[in-house]
Amino acid sequence: MLRFKRDYFVVDIDDQNALLFLTGNHRLFRISRELGDRLRLGPEHLEPQERDAWQGLSERGAFSDENRELLATSSFEDGADLAINVNLTNICNLACTYCFADGGDYGRITNAMGEESVGWIFDFIAANVTPSRRVRFEFFGGEPLANYKTMRDICEKSVAFAAEHDVEFVYRVSTNLTLLPKGAVELFAEHRFIVSVSLDGGRAVQDANRPSKNGRGSFDRIIANVREVRAAGDDVTLVARMTIAQREPTLIDSVRELWELNLFDYFQIYPGVFPADVTTAVPVTVTMGNRELVPASSRRVVNFFLRDGMVEQFRNFLTSYPSLFTAGNRFKGVLEYERTIQMVAEGLFALSFCSGGRTYFTHSPDSSISSCHRLVGDQSFDVGTGPEGLTRPPADWRTTVDSHPVCGGCWARYVCGGGCKQENFADTGDIATLNTDSCQYQLLLTEEVLRLIGRSQPEYLEQDRSPFADLFVSCGRPTMANNRGEIHLDERLTRLFAPVGGVR
Ligand code: SF4
Ligand code: SF4
Repeated sequence: MLRFKRDYFVVDIDDQNALLFLTGNHRLFRISRELGDRLRLGPEHLEPQERDAWQGLSERGAFSDENRELLATSSFEDGADLAINVNLTNICNLACTYCFADGGDYGRITNAMGEESVGWIFDFIAANVTPSRRVRFEFFGGEPLANYKTMRDICEKSVAFAAEHDVEFVYRVSTNLTLLPKGAVELFAEHRFIVSVSLDGGRAVQDANRPSKNGRGSFDRIIANVREVRAAGDDVTLVARMTIAQREPTLIDSVRELWELNLFDYFQIYPGVFPADVTTAVPVTVTMGNRELVPASSRRVVNFFLRDGMVEQFRNFLTSYPSLFTAGNRFKGVLEYERTIQMVAEGLFALSFCSGGRTYFTHSPDSSISSCHRLVGDQSFDVGTGPEGLTRPPADWRTTVDSHPVCGGCWARYVCGGGCKQENFADTGDIATLNTDSCQYQLLLTEEVLRLIGRSQPEYLEQDRSPFADLFVSCGRPTMANNRGEIHLDERLTRLFAPVGGVR
């Protein structure tokens, strides 16, 4: 018997309508609110006619379990390209209030990546390329453009390597774009870069959250550089990567301020995740030098979208989200939302939350290779070295969501994939013990995106979302098509369980 919140979920759309979401195959049906309320209690609470229809759905294969079956037989290489996070330098010229990298050096990295690492990275690619034969570079730091020379060397070397090894490269950089070295714009255009710019909102927000180390604002300098990159043409994809850690201005206003510039193709909206004192929920600096400012017992790693008033802001934003798609603006979507829509509309399932430790590795200047760019600096997460390559493939990063004691019973598990291991570790000291805030946020995100789907027109849901796989959502969530078959429902069934137009 299917169970609510494990095998299916119900989302209210408005006073009359709700959606039934099936965990096992990501099918979606429009139902009445009353029917939804009874399904929340369990199928045994359905009225006789509804129970017949529920049985009819089952007989026609609507409750198939492709997501679980395919996940069980999948390998860590499925559904993802090899991705190399190239941690180019410890230098960062900003002093972001919530930086996870201790100002860029992760507490350990003390130099910039040098020439010997470039050779090691290509050796690593030759040894670990996935069957897709596509490889994504993520240039990262510190501020990666502070080591532009090595970045350029890698791009140049990749051209001959691609021809020799039958590999296709995707190039992406996570930058604050306060620097724009000579030649960078041309390099971005030549390699069709995805340039992800860390920018939290308009001038006031950005200058408060991400000031320069000398205390001056960074907004004007960044926008001038964004304009220069934009002028290179449509071969460069620009993503505004926003971290939201303030209530005012509201989320809608912050996004609109950047949207109005009409410079960015995509947005990524990330809630601030930071250590806070549990008694006050106020962000804290956990350490200063060797001195612990907040004892571990009263510290939590919290998600800002779950703090007072932010859930409402998030919901309001998703309600007005469709208004951002206009003919006069190049905006093509918020990555997280579009990727989630794609998983439901096209029937994809997550093989994991991210590719960390599977097909995604961070190479650092100290020659370490880590499972996760945010865990660089903690040697227990090192999985190899530049000269030796991968020496310790991390089995605990390759488990499936179904094997997790909590996630295995979660209705959103094949969308979420099991949560961010680094956020778990920061909060609980264990990559497998859930950070409850991070988990709640994934549930909120999935529920609100389902609601968005319920309000959307078929033409919007049918759009081609294939470019989103390369755009680095949650460190690259690996997905596969579940190949759910078409089901044929007669009028008796569709009257109660109507397929959602645009969901294939
Ligand atoms: S982290 Fe939370 S939302 Fe994600 S699968 Fe696990 S229980 Fe579900
Ligand atoms: S999703 Fe989390 S665990 Fe995975 S690579 Fe990103 S930060 Fe690391």
